[in-house]
Amino acid sequence: MAADYPDTASGAYRAVLQVIESVEPRIAAATRKELADQRDSLKLIASENYASLAVLLTMGSWLSDKYAEGTIGHRFYAGCQNVDTVEAVAAEHARELFGAPYAYVQPHSGIDANLVAYWAILATRVEAPGLADAGVKHVNDLSEADWEALRHKLGNQRLLGMSLDAGGHLTHGFRPNISGKMFHQRSYGTDPQTGLLDYDALAAAAREFKPLIIVAGYSAYPRRINFAAMREIADDVGATLMVDMAHFAGLVAGKVFTGDEDPVPHAHVTTTTTHKSLRGPRGGLILAQPEYADAVDKGCPMVLGGPLAHVMAAKAVALAEARQPAFQTYAKRIADNAKALAEGFLSRGARLVTGGTDNHIVLLDVTSFGLTGRQAESALLDAGVVTNRNSIPADPNGAWYTSGIRFGTPALTSRGFGAADFDRVAELVVDVLKNTQPAAGARGTSKAKYTLADGTAQRVRDAAAELLAANPLYPGLTL
Ligand code: PLP
Repeated sequence: MAADYPDTASGAYRAVLQVIESVEPRIAAATRKELADQRDSLKLIASENYASLAVLLTMGSWLSDKYAEGTIGHRFYAGCQNVDTVEAVAAEHARELFGAPYAYVQPHSGIDANLVAYWAILATRVEAPGLADAGVKHVNDLSEADWEALRHKLGNQRLLGMSLDAGGHLTHGFRPNISGKMFHQRSYGTDPQTGLLDYDALAAAAREFKPLIIVAGYSAYPRRINFAAMREIADDVGATLMVDMAHFAGLVAGKVFTGDEDPVPHAHVTTTTTHKSLRGPRGGLILAQPEYADAVDKGCPMVLGGPLAHVMAAKAVALAEARQPAFQTYAKRIADNAKALAEGFLSRGARLVTGGTDNHIVLLDVTSFGLTGRQAESALLDAGVVTNRNSIPADPNGAWYTSGIRFGTPALTSRGFGAADFDRVAELVVDVLKNTQPAAGARGTSKAKYTLADGTAQRVRDAAAELLAANPLYPGLTL
């Protein structure tokens, strides 16, 4: 990984851990152990990455101690001049990197960014009575019927988002998230034959449903999206196009997604996390067209707690890194590696949702190995391969046990893995899955239990250790 300053960082971390150890040794031990665990496993979780040491070190400072509710130059607290600088630099990098007229770098996470965006769109577009005028009791006491009545009083605003089993995210209007209560939601899915987004079906659904907001973006869809087509569909029905690029922001930043595949010029509002393919600190970020900027700018205190100045500082550092030419090479390798991983699976007879990938995600249908996602995820973990189970379209095993395993290439690409390494990873994964047998539970075949053939876990761990040693995490960082 570029510019990791291992000598300075080793000294800094030794000192940091010593200080922590003197107060709470268990936290120092868990921090050390986490590094060891991350170094020793094949991290294939599509939403995770390894931030640079510069980004990590930026977070450990007294910027954390400052309260700074409000916006740059307009705070509810005195003495915010340095936080103003931090926020302004981060926002400037975000605007420049993504070519956006406006950037808001305060959101603490992707969920928070989406909530700020929703509220900003409502505030910009809907004239509605407040909660009190709507005759509402305490909001926590609202039943589903109450929510529906409230939505009607507020104009029953509609949101059209990608279904969960096609790869959408909970914040795109699903009940476990507040977005599913705020909006009357309808989902669009993918073509049952190809697994690909069907723009004609989406346009027809939009014409019938007439949403206020169309949300594009995904957590588990292994393909690119044509955002110019999405914007046409939104314009046709007068909807606001909101793109949640949480997963693929790194591919946008690294110019792998350009033209129609770059959401920023096409969406009215674009949200993202900063910690996935973008390789920054945990956090969120919003880019907006000028007409939404004022409302987004009110995110704190409307939706968010006080800004985390130390994290905004780390966002600035990560965004500065992403503006370097090396980041474009990194982003291209993420996509090339995903293709190599997909081809590695296909050549060994595995079935992939959509038949492949053209982003950073590969979604493997594990039913062809006779397994549920839950069994496959656990067996892979036994062998030191860290993934997560995921629904596939029309999943026969439901959202808990699932039938898929989602793989992502950003993290191992940060370690230096190339296409040949990812082919080897595919071989190791297939080795584990072929040697995993579903086990019978008390009431028939369990969707969770499995047995892994003797020797498999060790064989795969040994092979993975060679790949990991050749591509060390934070090389030179000794604690
Ligand atoms: N949006 C999408 C598409 C995501 O995949 C995720 C996280 O997985 C989020 C939003 C939420 O991000 P966070 O965990 O930072 O709240």
